[in-house]
Formats: sequence, structure tokens, C-alpha cells
Amino acid sequence: MDVESDTPLSLQGITKQYESLTAVNSIDLEVEAGEFVVIVGPSGCGKSTTLRMIAGLEDITDGDLYFGDERVNDVAPKDRNVAMVFQNYALYPHMSARRNMIFGINAGTDSYSDEEIDNAVQDAAETLGITDLLDRMPNQLSGGERQRVALGRALIRDPDVLLLDEPLANLDAKLRTEMRTELDRIHQQFGATTIYVTHNQTEAMTLGDRVVVLNNGEIQQVDSPQTLYDFPKNRFVAEFIGSPTINLLPISLTHADGHVYAERHGTEDDFRIDLGQSEDFPSTDRSEAILGIRPEDLSLEHNTTYNHPTPLFLTVETTEPLGNSMVVYGTIADQEVKVKVDAHASVSVGNTLSLVCDPDRIHLFDTETGDVFHHSANTNPT
Ligand code: ADP
Repeated sequence: MDVESDTPLSLQGITKQYESLTAVNSIDLEVEAGEFVVIVGPSGCGKSTTLRMIAGLEDITDGDLYFGDERVNDVAPKDRNVAMVFQNYALYPHMSARRNMIFGINAGTDSYSDEEIDNAVQDAAETLGITDLLDRMPNQLSGGERQRVALGRALIRDPDVLLLDEPLANLDAKLRTEMRTELDRIHQQFGATTIYVTHNQTEAMTLGDRVVVLNNGEIQQVDSPQTLYDFPKNRFVAEFIGSPTINLLPISLTHADGHVYAERHGTEDDFRIDLGQSEDFPSTDRSEAILGIRPEDLSLEHNTTYNHPTPLFLTVETTEPLGNSMVVYGTIADQEVKVKVDAHASVSVGNTLSLVCDPDRIHLFDTETGDVFHHSANTNPT
């Protein structure tokens, strides 16, 4: 069994049209050999369709798909050396775990000896921790164990490309977390070029070297999890990544005393936030924008050490204790705002809290397009 895949993938303008519906719209993506890439996006955004086109289960309407130097658009699925694992484990109920893993393995052009197959099963079973379960039938296995068998089935085929379509979706939260860690380890051991699809942003953030955010069949951003969180390219990515979701407030942009301000007027709790010196600000003639600030980047004023903070006054409507922190929901200038505070902060419904923004954690989005035009962070994305 190889431990390194040497198959990079290249998706060039990949498009899938179902009659009048464009499910996947001209996707460009380069995946390095042995890389683990996660595709994340809401239901219906085209994740499975993309995966199925890579596997060869779905025709590509337009664009080119390369495995290494080979264009594989017209290569049959069985000749692509791809293995796919789905959310519903798809094990044969009348076969033991072992037989499920090896079923059909000699059906292709390659033939393996019994010994080779046996060794591959032992290797995969050890990696997956299912050595003692190989003679059980699927109905004698837990959900997590069945999913490991399904993974084992994929791994012993020594695929160049491993495609995982929401493989943990049917597992309970604790098992899902455990399996995520294991998948990481398994990937390091087997090293296949892996594409993992999920609608769950937490899963995407914890698993991917790189994460592809997809919406409406189009790539929104491809970056490391941290870069997606720190430097979202548009409102969609900002809202999709991070929990609780980012606060987005319509504001006016004004210039005074060499500084730029985000202002909101016309309500009792007007605010005016100093965004920094005009010279640090990209030249813009915008007078309106959407201010993005994450709930964890707002703090109670008395807890902060920022210079000259401009407080925002939030009226508390509900609180959500999370054990290690608390999310407070309320309104600022008629806009719903969430703030993450210390679990033991003394906050009650009806209170007015005085909050300040971390000046290095502000994002500004174009009102019309939703594209970001300013991040206040000191460090730039790499
Ligand atoms: P996701 O995996 O992100 O939930 P899919 O790739 O399954 O999304 O679907 C993308 C879009 O394509 C959806 O609007 C879905 O309804 C549509 N779609 C998927 N398969 C077919 C099909 N066989 N025929 C017509 N439309 C389809």
C-alpha cells in the first residue's frame, strides 16, 4: 500500500448544468498531491455534484478535469482509481465487515492475491481500530464502527483520490469529534489526495488544510481556516464561517480630523466608531457600508485596554450560557447584535451594556456587492 499519493487534481472551469439549473458554475481549483481539501457550503450549493463529477458518476457539462497530467473527463469511474465514502454507509447487510471491505476488489483489471488482500485488510483495520470487528455483520456494529468499515473499504483500494461526502453526518456529536481527529491521522498515514464535503462549518474549520467555500455553485473563497475567519472576502463567507455568526451593521462612513468613522444615527443609541487614520484607509468614495464585527471581538468596556474606545450601547434581550462563555443577544441602533462575554459576567435581560470593538478586528463590506473592501487587522493575509 502506498503511503503517498502523487496525484494532484486540477478543476478548470468545471460546470454542471441540469437543464436550466447551473448546479456548478465554472469552478477552478488546484489540489496538490496528498492534500486534504474541504468543500463547505449550504445545502444545494453544488458540493455533491462537484464530488460526483470528480468520481466520474456525473458527466461534466463544461470545463476540464485533470488527475496529474491526464484529462479524465471521459475516463470511466472504475479507471480513475478514486474511492468515495458517503454519509449513508452503504454496507451490504448480509456480509461481514471483512467481506464488505474486500467485495468487488478483484472485479477490475487488477488482480490481487489472497495474501495481498488479507494484508491490506489487516493494515486498514489496524489504522481504523476495527481489527476485532471484522467478522461482525453490519447490524452488530454501531454507526461509528460501520462508518469505519466503509472507510476501510475505500482505503484498501489504495485510491489516488479519496472523496468523502458528509461521511460523519449520521454520527452523534461526540463520535463526530472523535472521528475528525482520526480522519486527520488516517489521512497522514494513507496520504491520498482527499476531498471532503460538508455543510458543517465547524467540521470544515477543524479538518481542512484548505477550505473551499461554495455558494450557488460558485467558489466564494479558498483559504486556510484561519484566513477565512480573519479575512473573509465577502459577506457570505463572513456569515458562513464562525459561530455565533458575525454581526453586520449598515453604517455611514465619514471623515473628520484625519480619521474615518463608522456612524449610525437616527435612533436613541446612535454610535460613532473611530476606524483609524484616513491614511491607513484605502481611498474610497463610499458613504455607506456594512460593518462586520464578530461577537467575540466585542467586549464589555470596563474589561478592555483599548485606547480611546468608543462605546456601543447594547440593550440585552436574551442570554445563552455556553459553559465556558455566554452569548448575549440584544440590539444596537435597532440592529440585532450578538456579543460573546465571559461565562460569569453579570448580565441580565433589560440591562444596557457598554461595549467596545476590537479596533483590529473590523471588516467593511460593500453595501451592494457584499465584497469586503477593508479589514482593519494589522497583519495581511498570506
Ligand atoms: P449539495 O451537495 O451542496 O447539497 P448538490 O450538488 O446535491 O448540492 O445539488 C446542487 C443543485 O443541483 C441543487 O439545486 C440540486 O437540487 C440540483 N441537482 C442535484 N442533482 C440533480 C439532478 N440529478 N437533476 C437535477 N438537479 C439536480
